Amino acid sequence: MGMPVNRPFAIDPTGTPPAGDALAVGGSVADTEIYPILERVAAAGGRLEDGEAARLLESADLVALGRAAHAVRMRLHPRKTVTFVIDRNINYTNICVAGCAFCAFHRAPGAGDGWVITREELRRKIEETYAAGGSQILMQGGLNPDLTLEWHEELLRWLRGEFPGLHIHAYSPPEIAFLSKRSGRAVDEVLRRLAAAGLNSIPGGGAEILTDRVRARLSPGKVGAGRWIEVMRAAHRLGLRTTATMMYGLIETVAERVEHLRRLRDLQGETGGFTAFINWPFQPRGGGHKERFSGAFDYLRMTAVARLYLDNIPNIQASWVTQGEKIAQLSLAMGVNDLGSLMLEENVVAAAGTHHDTTKSRLRALALEMGYELRQRDFYYRPWRQRARPAE
Ligand code: SF4
Repeated sequence: MGMPVNRPFAIDPTGTPPAGDALAVGGSVADTEIYPILERVAAAGGRLEDGEAARLLESADLVALGRAAHAVRMRLHPRKTVTFVIDRNINYTNICVAGCAFCAFHRAPGAGDGWVITREELRRKIEETYAAGGSQILMQGGLNPDLTLEWHEELLRWLRGEFPGLHIHAYSPPEIAFLSKRSGRAVDEVLRRLAAAGLNSIPGGGAEILTDRVRARLSPGKVGAGRWIEVMRAAHRLGLRTTATMMYGLIETVAERVEHLRRLRDLQGETGGFTAFINWPFQPRGGGHKERFSGAFDYLRMTAVARLYLDNIPNIQASWVTQGEKIAQLSLAMGVNDLGSLMLEENVVAAAGTHHDTTKSRLRALALEMGYELRQRDFYYRPWRQRARPAE
């Protein structure tokens, strides 16, 4: 039997029946329209349809939405634990030809402040990651025309040789597609070669909103929506697991947010290759609100709807890097089961002027206050154990 969702709820992370407080947060769809939808999808097996997802995104009752998402989260992850991973976000270059309108990180080829990471810098960053208790890196870069497929293979082989137990989570779909185009090799071959050189998994970056209209406006130099999905499909078929992401809050419509979710859910139905979904709002350049600003309520609503809609993606991560600890903590009551990465370094969001920092003990406190134990995990959501350390 499903959780009753016929009236507004107070947030209750234990999943026990609500006290009945309401919290209206704006929106345009009458609350009464959404309760039957929430009641059905909160029950085991209820699948959210596209029109229903749009109504939930436009609805006023954030608390009822969050309660339903939490019920689904507790069904998928019944243990009272919240997971996190320790890794380092390493950018191998800031030189990029894509020229995305929203990006404050990249530099054009030939720019005086463009750079490519050195082996010494890489070694130091990874050794610091091991010292902090992690054995994973998230490595991404701009679309740098000077870096060939062979350069990347050599980099991966070096990493694998120096750090045999390191989990290398690297190269988002736009980077893979760029390497394919630049080398004249099929995506499938590029992925095989990178995996043979040491690549373990692929981040879901560069997705933004997976519709061609939005991408043509914001990131015309990047892959289209169909190509992004194609790269992920090819990776999953080769056995490379990946994450899925969404950056919203720019020019997209509600229907386009739903289209993005639909593409992810459809591919996951085909391959089962996504481990997790992470969403965050666009961070305005310099921290200001020049563009349409997407605030905390929208973040929580988007996260809860994602938990309900993406019923075949097991994990939903909080984005404390963009939202800060308190909103990330609140999201634990609204569908999120993972606090994501305790990142030792983050450059892309920081370049836009958003700085949030945290520590393991603070993440533990956030989880405990919500009634959860914090558990460190690896990329595959297995309990973490220290892998092979670099040679002394
Ligand atoms: S978001 Fe990525 S692909 Fe786009 S300009 Fe920045 S570095 Fe390049």
